[in-house]
Amino acid sequence: MTKRDGVRDPRHPDTEILHSGRDPEAQHGFVNPSVYRGSTVLFPTLDALEAYDQQTYRYGRHGTPTTAALEEALCQLEGGARCVLTPSGYQAVTTAILAFVKAGDHILMVDTVYQPTRKFCDAFLARLGVATTYYDPLIGEGIAGLVQENTRLVFTESPGSLTFEMQDIGAIAKAARARDIAVVMDNTWATGLYFRPLEHGVDVSINACTKYIVGHADAMLGAITANARTARAIEMSRLLLGGCPGSEETYLGLRGLRTLAVRLARHHKAGLEVAEWLAGRPEVARVLHPALASDPGHALWKAQYKGASGLFSIVLNPVPRAAVAAMLDGLELFGMGYSWGGYESLIVPFDPKTCRTATTWGDAGQALRLHIGLDDPRDLISDLDAGFTRLKSAA
Ligand SMILES: *Cc1c(COP(=O)(O)O)cnc(C)c1O
Repeated sequence: MTKRDGVRDPRHPDTEILHSGRDPEAQHGFVNPSVYRGSTVLFPTLDALEAYDQQTYRYGRHGTPTTAALEEALCQLEGGARCVLTPSGYQAVTTAILAFVKAGDHILMVDTVYQPTRKFCDAFLARLGVATTYYDPLIGEGIAGLVQENTRLVFTESPGSLTFEMQDIGAIAKAARARDIAVVMDNTWATGLYFRPLEHGVDVSINACTKYIVGHADAMLGAITANARTARAIEMSRLLLGGCPGSEETYLGLRGLRTLAVRLARHHKAGLEVAEWLAGRPEVARVLHPALASDPGHALWKAQYKGASGLFSIVLNPVPRAAVAAMLDGLELFGMGYSWGGYESLIVPFDPKTCRTATTWGDAGQALRLHIGLDDPRDLISDLDAGFTRLKSAA
């Protein structure tokens, strides 16, 4: 097998992610790339040293053959011109935003964004003199009405963090592009396998690889994939901010990527099975999952996405806190904790009212976010069923 540089492959992405970013010939035949650990790169001659900027590898912070392998593979998955890695998904977000703004600028941020992204806007961008307006995730082409003369960026995330509203990415991107405003999307939930933002007019796609790409809850990693018109800005932003992932973490991202298609297919199927079961429970007021036919975002999801991951939420009918605690504390297969995308199943309570300013949350019951891992969904349903029994007896 040889490397096919620059060839746009017609193969299925499930196949491509097994081959992209690999060059066994350059690795003495070994299937996988090496883990390059390094800071200093040696230059053989003064001429080579003086041509520093033209060298592929110059210094550890700027990249190694290991980071280049994963960047190439993710770039291909997202259909971008350039991908850069960061030490966390959060830093992918901040690096991407900072690529486009300066003091006096304005950005439009989706109200249902990942909470730390909101915090970055309110606590950090504000301090730099960059203003943020939050918008309703369902705004679509209406985003045009919020654009100001100094708007430089529209940030999207679909489905929304915690509450899973689907955004009409194509409509938003079209309206923004018509005004020469950059569009960034946090694509962590779907990954490039289930949604390719750049094909819908988005300039920059972000992935918290910590979640599904690493896939085993054992590393932090982020990626930013840019189209040709924004590649330089993204590359410079990462260089100037200095975020470089560790070699082992990068390797874990490469390793996780190879099994992403089979894991996601399983998360999708099992997630939907558990979501459908939950939708039929009397304790549950609502299930927030765009792949459910009853979900308000279902038509958009169906038209644009190739699949769903294993992350969704439910809203319980109102019960006292002690009943929720009785349910959650006794779960045997679901762990309580942040992050998601690994093989393990997780559940966390949340309150959308604490992180929404452009929209209102009217539900009275406790909201819970579930990550359906790779467990047999029938076992997960039994665990939740026992949880509802505890909830009822404590209510
Ligand atoms: C987790 C997450 C991030 C941040 O990723 P980390 O690797 O935890 O820093 C960003 N966006 C979304 C949607 C996430 O879920």
